[in-house]
Amino acid sequence: MQTIFEKSTAGRKGVTLPKCDVPTGSAVPDRYKRTRPLNLCELSEPDVVRHFTALSRMNFGVDNNLYPLGSCTMKYNPKACERIAALNGFSSIHPMTAQLAGGHRYAQGALAVVRNLEESLCRVTGMDAFTLQPMAGAHGELTGMMLIAAYHRKKGAAKKEVLIPDEAHGTNPASAAAAGFKIRTVPTDPETGLLDVDKLREIISDGTAALMMTNPNTLGLFNPRVAEIAEIVHSRGALLYCDGANMNAVMGKFRPGDCGFDVMHVNLHKTFATPHGGGGPGSGPVGVKAFLEPFLPTPRVRVNAENGYALAPNSDYPDSIGPVAPFYGNFSVCVKAYAYMLMMGGKGLLEVSEQAVLNANYVLHSLMERYEVPYPKTCMHECVLSASRQAEAGVKAVDIAKALIDRGFHPPTVYFPLIVKEALMIEPTETEGKEALDAFIGAMAEIAKIAASDPKSLHACPTTTPVGRLDETKAAREMDVAFL
Ligand SMILES: *Cc1c(COP(=O)(O)O)cnc(C)c1O
Repeated sequence: MQTIFEKSTAGRKGVTLPKCDVPTGSAVPDRYKRTRPLNLCELSEPDVVRHFTALSRMNFGVDNNLYPLGSCTMKYNPKACERIAALNGFSSIHPMTAQLAGGHRYAQGALAVVRNLEESLCRVTGMDAFTLQPMAGAHGELTGMMLIAAYHRKKGAAKKEVLIPDEAHGTNPASAAAAGFKIRTVPTDPETGLLDVDKLREIISDGTAALMMTNPNTLGLFNPRVAEIAEIVHSRGALLYCDGANMNAVMGKFRPGDCGFDVMHVNLHKTFATPHGGGGPGSGPVGVKAFLEPFLPTPRVRVNAENGYALAPNSDYPDSIGPVAPFYGNFSVCVKAYAYMLMMGGKGLLEVSEQAVLNANYVLHSLMERYEVPYPKTCMHECVLSASRQAEAGVKAVDIAKALIDRGFHPPTVYFPLIVKEALMIEPTETEGKEALDAFIGAMAEIAKIAASDPKSLHACPTTTPVGRLDETKAAREMDVAFL
């Protein structure tokens, strides 16, 4: 496909601007004036519309069809939240407004959103205080690890090690290492698919700063022994971190703050109404128990004497780790999340989680006979299957993923978690109806059948897309973006 510049034809116009009716150029010094005309493409309006419509059709999003990318919670997000975030008062406010003397009076709505969203997240998670600054889940993890480091430093404790289960999201060890910690892996019990508590007892030491735990974990399984794990961790002076990217599974049912977790992050762009993918924008707020609040990033929003909102002076937070992002994070994502929580209410959020879990179990049970299930138990918001049976006939998880593309579905997450061979991690989310789930299950069943009868035919998939199967190594090393 040609670029829009290659489609340009000299003299063709889409828009005609009115004649300029103000004096031109006089205020601009000559050295700043351009000497050559702007390199704009010249096309008619239909040319432009067709160009971008054609491009959009090469894309795939949750507006097209089911997008069961496990652990990513690619759910349909209400457009109403987008409209609210786009309101002029939210989208046009200058981020410095509240920082200027007296400026908070002109930013009450925005400051109220920050403060109320922090409080709403506290209610959902059982934490005592939140910061909205981190701009992604991984950024939240890094912030959480920095808070834990600051806490131990303040206490004069030499704790340099963070324990992470072997099924954890790859960002967990990366974030802990970026915050200066050494990583030690805690194995999963092969019988239960849950953190091996006996092994944890052996591995934990006085040098342990924290255990990072995802619950439900990336196998989609809920660990009911959290309180016991918290006790083991706390008895060594370490803290318990919750990777709460999967809150979509447990809202209204389980609050990490009630069960011994000290720090956690949530992913607004997974659970709370911001579409994601393609690199953002995201938001990974971090919640803490009260004893860690003094370490949170500044500036903090507080209720002032006039019962309005204002920024607290940074000098009130001498132990703060300082800002981790400009201003208050990705503000428009926060507005969407707050609007979503108000729209749903507590009962609505509980129903979200119940439906998400029901949908995942429906998919799991419908596919159990066709695919290997490494942990055949009730799952939470996602289920993990294995293509090991199909792999014996030469059809790997990647072939199944590509065959799904030909059938109009986004593939599930594949080859993760690492502890499952040929893993297919499916998260249908609560926003899919039974028809959509049945269509996906039908496609998975059909692919399993073909894998048994004509495995080679699946190696060519996808065949219906603008780009076929790529050599992924070569695609990264010898990038060619002009192939369409
Ligand atoms: C998505 C996810 C993360 C990372 O979040 P990003 O916003 O992609 O950085 C961390 N942990 C788990 C379990 C996740 O699903």
